[in-house]
Amino acid sequence: MTQTAPLKKWQEKGYPARLQEDLGDGIVRCHLSPRNCRIRPGQHGFCMVRANRDGKLVSLNYGRSVHATEETIETEAVFHYEPGARILSMGNIGCMLNCDYCHNWKTSQARFVEDKDVFYYTPEEVVDIAKRHGIKVISWTYNDPVVWHEFVVESAKLAQEAGIVNLYKSAFFISPEAIEELIPVIDIFSISIKSMDPKYYRKITKGWIEPVLDGAELVYRAGRHVEVSTLMVTDLSDDEKTARAMASFVGERLGAEVPTHFVRFHPDYKMTNTIRTPVERLEKARRIALEMGLQNVYLGNVYDTDSTNTYCHGCGDLLVTRYGLNANVLGVSADGHCVKCSADANMRRIADVPKASVVDALPAGADLDIATFDWYGDIRALHVQVRNDSSQLDRVYHRRNRPGTRGGSWGVINLRPGESYRFIAAKSTLDEVGVAVAVPRTCTSSLHQVFDRAHFPTLEVDAGTLNADVTPLPLYVNPRAKD
Ligand code: SF4
Repeated sequence: MTQTAPLKKWQEKGYPARLQEDLGDGIVRCHLSPRNCRIRPGQHGFCMVRANRDGKLVSLNYGRSVHATEETIETEAVFHYEPGARILSMGNIGCMLNCDYCHNWKTSQARFVEDKDVFYYTPEEVVDIAKRHGIKVISWTYNDPVVWHEFVVESAKLAQEAGIVNLYKSAFFISPEAIEELIPVIDIFSISIKSMDPKYYRKITKGWIEPVLDGAELVYRAGRHVEVSTLMVTDLSDDEKTARAMASFVGERLGAEVPTHFVRFHPDYKMTNTIRTPVERLEKARRIALEMGLQNVYLGNVYDTDSTNTYCHGCGDLLVTRYGLNANVLGVSADGHCVKCSADANMRRIADVPKASVVDALPAGADLDIATFDWYGDIRALHVQVRNDSSQLDRVYHRRNRPGTRGGSWGVINLRPGESYRFIAAKSTLDEVGVAVAVPRTCTSSLHQVFDRAHFPTLEVDAGTLNADVTPLPLYVNPRAKD
């Protein structure tokens, strides 16, 4: 494809791309995803973040990212690897797919990415952020890490050397050569299978399903921790057929112990003329998969259900409780077994995870601005972005509010001079009404409503709601639509 619009700042500098083939006459082929784009000088591939510059394939998004964000591992549809662990989520720009319902379309579709939304990191900086904030897992996520391959591989290697676990959350439309480069550095693969129906997969995502299933099997056979999920789109893929196809795939080509997530859909991007997936259809899909022999089946983007908890297969004891993006480990040993009956829970643990720091009360006399945000509708999580504009260490505080009490301890985030940080605060109990954030006046801060997990919000709370009803999402206007 030819680059027609003027280059944005983030597109100006290219970084040497891996997995390229010289086809002669200045033409290159990209072997990163199964598209194998053939790219002439001055053109870019389908993803719009890999281009041919002077006969060489370059990555346009190396180190260019949305804001690094502290979240929890449940955000990534990972339930069997250190439940409740804090993670550092790193998203980037572009995608090798173009799903009609993408909920990160403002960043996954490169043509919508504005320079103001792009942050610049080096591999060393990413690892340093995780270390300084006591985070043991880096998640390569959001739009899709496939198209960030060079940066992911280099950063994940550094993280690994620092004792940090790497998580890869992806639609996994990726070539076997690229997977071989990931296997040595990635510990956890959370694979989103967009559909089990080949025709539907092609129509909705503009990709094809076979490499995704083959890739999932490849990393599973390589001994990596794998969890799989599928989005149950209302009236399109929220049926029994999808549940049976997922369960067959996991049971036959992976293993019955592989955690499988049926995820609730919300209308977004080009697919807004519909409703959220009815929860009873998700519950039914889960029942079918369990009846077909899968051991660990969960619902995603659903609150107030027992179907997100983990029970022991040996004695039936409750091992992990979950509420939204929060988890509480009750009965799993350090080596991933039920503490009551010693059955294998297929649960990986991380030793010596640093606890987030908390204080009982705000420091007396501190000059703080306190903002509160109440949960409403489907908004049960918030990204808080803060930047320390002073020349000394600053502390930001946050806590959950419950009716009547408005009390409880405060989580503390330490910020170096000049540091910008983003973290999630997600509803953790049924009775919680919202969140409070206390920020020094020397900091700049903004709040961003999170709609479902693995959603990177680009709108600030103050920007209001652009879509109708309760969805604080950017509105996609089809340029081909007639007035
Ligand atoms: S990553 Fe995929 S879509 Fe992008 S240029 Fe390479 S082959 Fe094409």
